[in-house]
Amino acid sequence: METVTHYINGRRIDTESGRYADIFNPALGKPVARVALGTADEVNAAVEAAAGAFPGWAGTPPLARARVLFKYLNLMQKHADAFAAAITREHGKTFADAKGEVARGIEVVEFAVGIPHLLKGEYTGDVARGIDAWAMRQPLGVVAGITPFNFPVMVPMWMFPIALACGNTFVLKPSERDPSVSLMHAELLQEAGLPAGVFNVVQGDKLAVDALLDHPEVQAVSFVGSTPIAEYIYGRGCANGKRVQALGGAKNHMVVMPDADMQMAVDALVGAAYGSAGERCMAISVAVAVGDAGDKLVAALAERTRELKINDGMEPDAEMGPIVTQAAKERIERLIGTGVEEGATLVVDGRNYVVPGREEGFFVGGTLFDHVTPGMTIYKEEIFGPVLCVLRAPDVATAVRLINHHEYGNGVAVFTRDGGVAREFVAQIKAGMVGVNVPLPVPMAFGSFGGWKRSLFGDHHVYGPEGVRFYTRHKAVMQRWPNTASAGPEFAFPQMK
Ligand code: NAD
Repeated sequence: METVTHYINGRRIDTESGRYADIFNPALGKPVARVALGTADEVNAAVEAAAGAFPGWAGTPPLARARVLFKYLNLMQKHADAFAAAITREHGKTFADAKGEVARGIEVVEFAVGIPHLLKGEYTGDVARGIDAWAMRQPLGVVAGITPFNFPVMVPMWMFPIALACGNTFVLKPSERDPSVSLMHAELLQEAGLPAGVFNVVQGDKLAVDALLDHPEVQAVSFVGSTPIAEYIYGRGCANGKRVQALGGAKNHMVVMPDADMQMAVDALVGAAYGSAGERCMAISVAVAVGDAGDKLVAALAERTRELKINDGMEPDAEMGPIVTQAAKERIERLIGTGVEEGATLVVDGRNYVVPGREEGFFVGGTLFDHVTPGMTIYKEEIFGPVLCVLRAPDVATAVRLINHHEYGNGVAVFTRDGGVAREFVAQIKAGMVGVNVPLPVPMAFGSFGGWKRSLFGDHHVYGPEGVRFYTRHKAVMQRWPNTASAGPEFAFPQMK
């Protein structure tokens, strides 16, 4: 079986720990490779390589750095299908969806090649007589990325293209569930001309993560994953004096007003709830039906949910693939049981779903609950599976209050024809990304992505202009030259004359 190794200082390196984890093809339910689980020594080696490469890379003109990324962009475009196939093999999502994920990652590189423009700084002449001031942004040094299983290509690409374009060197700790693509990135970056040590990969679990969080040379940590781990990463990273952005879990609501285009709302909900088997941080997992929208909505949703084409993600007609692991499948099915026990109406039950020819695969069918209430576990917890909960609300104000009280605040959407309702909703809602008749309002690469409340710990959203700010430090400079006469020592704060 193939071993997915670390990538340190321009070379693949196996672990010396002897610890490995199986990588499964979730559609088959069988291991297809194994991944090395890194030690603190291996993290040290990666951080040292990155620290050694930093002065040279930071001193490379931004345009020359961008040209390396431009070559990498071309290579990514050329190999996009190979990345997508690797995603489907280890994650399970459909090949079409995996291609979309790769495309969104590539868009971040398209943004990153223009970053020299954002590193220009500001200049003010004559802030006082004979004195000029300017501000510049400089790279931080060695920065680390710790990423989740659900977007093994796109989420690391939210981070390293921006970090590298800004002059930092990088250590990636990918998810141990689907890590193969991390080595494909490393090798394409090298082929594009990135010097050894600028981009490194340490595979592993908590051991490798903790070593990164405690390493004094690591200046900043970007994390994307579940909320309990995000909170932990933020706390430990900040306690160690690092800059940290830690994106967590979500429970994204979509409000359907009675005047909404019902067909548009149903199509949007089915795609956003069941696409990628609900394993998206922007998946819609709660529909809030306002007024009399509920009965029409649930009837149409039930019909469409029963028709979902669930199969191995490589099958061309698959609309939804399997769940990532057996443990995740069991957890989702357990939570469906809890929903029934707590009194929600189970309209479509996706438990015990079997795909002919893929009997061992980790499949869960599309699941629809109606009459869910805010106290229920299935409403409060992120299920991260193909489970859509419908709640009923008498009016939009109740829906907004409900959403604003939820612990998460990643994405949210409202479907309506009423501009006034939409405008007020956008103003009042406590979430980082809002869609109006758009179910998954993921910002483009030249915007920035992130949630509110317990969906993000830290000050900066990821990629786009916020990413540039996160991966650079502001420096203010004031200068004068001795051709202006000295007025002698000044003991009081100078005042402009
Ligand atoms: P996870 O939190 O289990 O793992 C994320 C990363 O943390 C992995 O690299 C993992 O190895 C590491 N990790 C896991 N347990 C750890 C521990 N105890 N200590 C230190 N490190 C640990 O998340 P996941 O299951 O891979 O991904 C799914 C989660 O990610 C969902 O909650 C989803 O909402 C969230 N997510 C959020 C966003 C966002 O933008 N907010 C995007 C994608 C995914």
